[in-house]
Amino acid sequence: MEIEFVGAAREVTGSCHIVRVAGSTVVLDCGLFQGRRRESSEKNTQLPIPIGEIDAIVLSHAHIDHAGRLPYLVRHGYEKTIWSTPATRDLCAVMLADSAHIQEKDAEFLSRRGKEHAEPLYSMRHATRTIELTVGVPYHRTFDVAPGVRATFVDAGHILGSASVMLDCLEGGKTRRLVFSGDIGRSGLPIIRDPEPPEGADGIIMESTYGNRTHESVEGARARLAAVIRATAARGGRILIPAFAVGRTQELVYDLHVLASEGAIPTIPIYIDSPLAIDTTSVFELHPDVFDHGEDLVRKVRNLFRFELLHYTRDVEESKALSRMHGPMVIIAASGMAESGRILHHLAQGASNPQNTILIVGFQAEHTLGRRIVERRPVLSIFGDDVPLRAQVEIINGYSAHADRNELGTWIDCVREHSPRLEQVWLVHGEPPAQDELATALAAKGLKVGCPAPRERREL
Ligand SMILES: [Zn+2]
Ligand SMILES: [Zn+2]
Repeated sequence: MEIEFVGAAREVTGSCHIVRVAGSTVVLDCGLFQGRRRESSEKNTQLPIPIGEIDAIVLSHAHIDHAGRLPYLVRHGYEKTIWSTPATRDLCAVMLADSAHIQEKDAEFLSRRGKEHAEPLYSMRHATRTIELTVGVPYHRTFDVAPGVRATFVDAGHILGSASVMLDCLEGGKTRRLVFSGDIGRSGLPIIRDPEPPEGADGIIMESTYGNRTHESVEGARARLAAVIRATAARGGRILIPAFAVGRTQELVYDLHVLASEGAIPTIPIYIDSPLAIDTTSVFELHPDVFDHGEDLVRKVRNLFRFELLHYTRDVEESKALSRMHGPMVIIAASGMAESGRILHHLAQGASNPQNTILIVGFQAEHTLGRRIVERRPVLSIFGDDVPLRAQVEIINGYSAHADRNELGTWIDCVREHSPRLEQVWLVHGEPPAQDELATALAAKGLKVGCPAPRERREL
């Protein structure tokens, strides 16, 4: 069998790998490349493979860097099946529609201002058709993907519905198992189950995002969250949290629910000010079967995402009304790096008040407003206006949904223990420094490791 690494090769975004075996061609993931506008637009508009050659697509999870280009394939004629878990399919329905909407609006906005802009990659129609082609298969059920190729999902413990994929390929009378890790999560994440390492692998395509970093513990993050809220409320200020609408917001809501039920935070209102987060929360509520039933709150409480202090604001008028209110409160709004979305309005109004706290709970890329807040720049530029940054800035790293280097090591140790025939590990989904450090660590364990470059082909 031959594997071609198309995206997330020596980088983090654009996850896409092509498996050719016994005359069948299967594509694993087809995500958006993100980063500098022009460079990523060039990569995004290049089809990974002529559409007619694809027999099936298998999707690991709903994050946009894994699923975000599927409607682009559909726009160019893809009409076969896309396989995912049921929760991934439902999350994609919300996220791909949002992605189409944002692209259409961005292009419209830039063209109105006479600025150079990329055409939207796809429209709402293509996003909808993508979901129609997607079939949801629960974890641990084996299904036929293409002639000679069967697949089984196991829980990757990263976001709701996330999977590692086991591909069993029959070639020359011999079945061999290729494992695609997807994005690997962490033990103890709220709501989500712990990662379940696959078994019986002959070869592994493995993510390596944090191959050179360690995270603060998940429990530590919840305690810090409580401390920040208590201190800010005591000053009479607001806690403003930029958060990804999918995953991170639900984890925060869950942790706030735990803290409120323990009396660990004061009784101040909490607002989820994001329509996408509200839709995503509804998808979470459809899939309690894949929650981590080892957690107390999951076992005891029926409505995890609803409690007395919590309010969801969907329409714009409700959102605007928040700025006229008085007294301490928590506001969680997208986007996660404060580049767009309603959080911008709250920051424009709240960043100059020293009573407030801006709480950062996610990775902030270079050149984003979130990064400037992390760097505590004295003056922020929001909607073209200068806003002095006088609010407190707090950073909690423990909410990462990705395994750190130790957790990646534990994952591969477990896979290996149950994979006597394991020959080869290929690292993907990581910047070179992270990949190289992890590759060295895995080689020291006696594994054969490679870090393929984009469009490189390897045999298993
Ligand atoms: Zn992911
Ligand atoms: Zn990813």
